[in-house]
Amino acid sequence: MLQKEPLELLSRSYITNDLSLPYWIYQIENIVVTARRFLKVYLLNRTGDGSQINRITFQHAGKDYVISDFRRVSKYDDPNYMGCVIEVDLEDTAEDLMIVQEIVGGKIFDGKQKACTFHMDPAESPRTSYLKKKHSLLVYPQIQEDYWLCGCGRIHAAEDTVCACRRTKHEMQNILDFDYDTVAVEDYLKVPMTLDPEISFDDNMNRYTAAFTQKYPHIPLEKLLVQLDTVSMQKRYEQEKQDAERRRIEAEEAAERKAARKKKIRKIAVIAAVVIALLGTGGFIFKDQILFRIQSHQLIKEIKENGTGYIFTFGEYEQDNNVMNGKEPIAWQVLQFEGNRVLVISEKCLDYKPFNNTAEEVTWESSDIRSWLNTDFYNSAFTSAEQNQICLMNITADHNNVTDQGNATQDHVFLLSYPQAVDLIQLKGDRTCTCTPYAKEKSQYKGSSDENLTVNWVLRTMGESRMKAVHVNFKGNVNPTGTDITEAIMIRPAIWINLDN
Ligand SMILES: [Zn+2]
Repeated sequence: MLQKEPLELLSRSYITNDLSLPYWIYQIENIVVTARRFLKVYLLNRTGDGSQINRITFQHAGKDYVISDFRRVSKYDDPNYMGCVIEVDLEDTAEDLMIVQEIVGGKIFDGKQKACTFHMDPAESPRTSYLKKKHSLLVYPQIQEDYWLCGCGRIHAAEDTVCACRRTKHEMQNILDFDYDTVAVEDYLKVPMTLDPEISFDDNMNRYTAAFTQKYPHIPLEKLLVQLDTVSMQKRYEQEKQDAERRRIEAEEAAERKAARKKKIRKIAVIAAVVIALLGTGGFIFKDQILFRIQSHQLIKEIKENGTGYIFTFGEYEQDNNVMNGKEPIAWQVLQFEGNRVLVISEKCLDYKPFNNTAEEVTWESSDIRSWLNTDFYNSAFTSAEQNQICLMNITADHNNVTDQGNATQDHVFLLSYPQAVDLIQLKGDRTCTCTPYAKEKSQYKGSSDENLTVNWVLRTMGESRMKAVHVNFKGNVNPTGTDITEAIMIRPAIWINLDN
């Protein structure tokens, strides 16, 4: 058990006017170990000639101690730094230690006592740590009346000008004189004040100065305030405020424009459909083509601008369950871009049909739903011009558990696969889907007036057997087991549209 009591870390120097003693005491530690008291004495050879100490006679509390065992100070690889230990009386509280006589290099030097107090290294503050780091100092330097402490830790007589580490007293003085506060303020000002247009200018200022005080508690706030250019800050604040207002208005306008665009497209689609219907009967099919090209050019621009999630209309299908007023434009949701193509899925379930009409082992390839989508639905929903715009795509037989999914196919219209439904519509909530009144009327939901009713919709992937098809349920969960293929279920067609016009 070693208890260390740094007894004020006093140091005695014998030199202010008299440099006759080669070794000075530069630090003493007062140590108590199991009821015995020791003074650990650090000595420095002022002459720096490294000559060996043979013997020193110390005097403490009126008693003489003759010591001849000296060791190097481990901190320095330098024979000029030596130390020794003196055992003194436990009861002695005297702090005085004097050198009566030194025998160094065989020569005798008589001690003279002229004391000075060694000052402790000041506590680490932002300033001292900044300076220590900047100048690679081991200790924070000190310059006292009768000695100075170099940044390397060596102690010197006041009149010495150069340390063994080659640094000078002048350099140490410059480090000590360094105006750290100004640097700190300049550093702080380098980071421009964040001006929040939502709060007042004064509140912004308070926030800024409070942060400074927190960072540099030692530096008076006035030092920051005199450097602050409040006039230009006020100007910047006004500008920020105007910008924020402008951004807010722009965002509002953009939202309005986006809403208007959607309406406009629907309108164009409806008008075009009517015109096409009129022209189509009179043999003016070339006009149909021209009109379609104009419409489709605008549509492509819209799709490209708005990206995934965008909803637009293309083609027509019976939806409001009133056949007297004709078909309604189909709304599609953009899922994925690939080259010059876009993958879209109907925003709502458009029909209610079984995956296959008879109970037999099928895959997408051999299913009735595939054939219905690519003949009846394809011809009913799209004009020949629109059909030209729909890509004939390779439809992969995506894997699900152990069931053989058959072959890939070439189709215009298809259902999403299980992996596609999960990858392309990642949020469960986004996978929930409503249905049109037309589809609803054919289903078990017939008569429900709930417009937000979400329904199960089927995918092209087979479930645990080829007698079951995977579906997305009304909560948006995908069930890989699947439901019987002969049970009618909601249909949500998907198509790839060519974006080259
Ligand atoms: Zn030094």
